[in-house]
Amino acid sequence: MIHLQGVGFRYPSVAESGAGEWVLSNLDVTIHRGEYLAVMGPNGSGKSTMARLFNGLLLPTEGVLTVDGLDPHDTEAVWEIRRRVGMVFQNPDNQIVATTVIDDIAFGLENRGVPRDEMVKRIQDAMARVGLTSLEKAAPHHLSGGQKQRLAIAGVLAMRPSVIIFDEATSMLDPLGRKEVLAAMQSLHQEGTTVIHITHSADEALQAERLLVMDKGQVVREGKPLHIFSHPEELEELFLEVPMFIDLRERLRRQGMALSRDSANSEELVEELWGLLSKG
Ligand code: ADP
Ligand code: MG
Repeated sequence: MIHLQGVGFRYPSVAESGAGEWVLSNLDVTIHRGEYLAVMGPNGSGKSTMARLFNGLLLPTEGVLTVDGLDPHDTEAVWEIRRRVGMVFQNPDNQIVATTVIDDIAFGLENRGVPRDEMVKRIQDAMARVGLTSLEKAAPHHLSGGQKQRLAIAGVLAMRPSVIIFDEATSMLDPLGRKEVLAAMQSLHQEGTTVIHITHSADEALQAERLLVMDKGQVVREGKPLHIFSHPEELEELFLEVPMFIDLRERLRRQGMALSRDSANSEELVEELWGLLSKG
């Protein structure tokens, strides 16, 4: 779906007319159609910049990038890339453009000149998919954080994208809002949409099929989230959050408890602990 080969990127420098530091370098990344990918990494490691390359908002300084076979250097293709790869951002309030839920979802479609009948169909469908149908006449600024983010998702869905990138889209939400947005990601994935979730939360990353860890503009780890988190000593210099049960397990191991690294969740860890304690 998205393919990067030897991609490097630098923002134009503010000081001189030349280019600034390399923000991304030598990136080889393939994102498969329909996959659910999480991206983690310290602040400033290049996650948002990479996301903006994925949807054609930025162009690579060097290397090759294609989205569905389209080259973003082609000015015709770049609009199609932006339609196919939607983004949901961190701040729910900054993404609202209209005074009712329906008008907010309609905004992007109107800009693209989508015919009236088609528009109505797409808006109804988008609202249903994120559970906002009963709120169609509501004023967006009266919605909860989770509802606002679901509205942002609906706006993206109405464009019929094949990929949706969530750039820390859960980080400003309360626990309920987070749950709502994570459930929406899960169902989008089940319906075949490619989901890319940039997050600082290990528990959220565990929900994905694959995890990319970035540091200083490069991918430094790649694989199943549980597998990457299972060796937290290798992640120390990155200050990444690891799931609580893994943190606890590793502390107990360091204190000499004969726990395996096989547990996949807190229930399995507790079970193994009981086994050890009852033996001993
Ligand atoms: P992350 O999302 O992982 O926190 P970013 O992609 O936002 O990282 O930033 C990566 C690097 O690029 C940082 O050093 C940041 O200061 C720099 N950067 C981000 N946006 C811009 C910009 N618009 N102009 C210049 N430098 C930028
Ligand atoms: Mg960012």
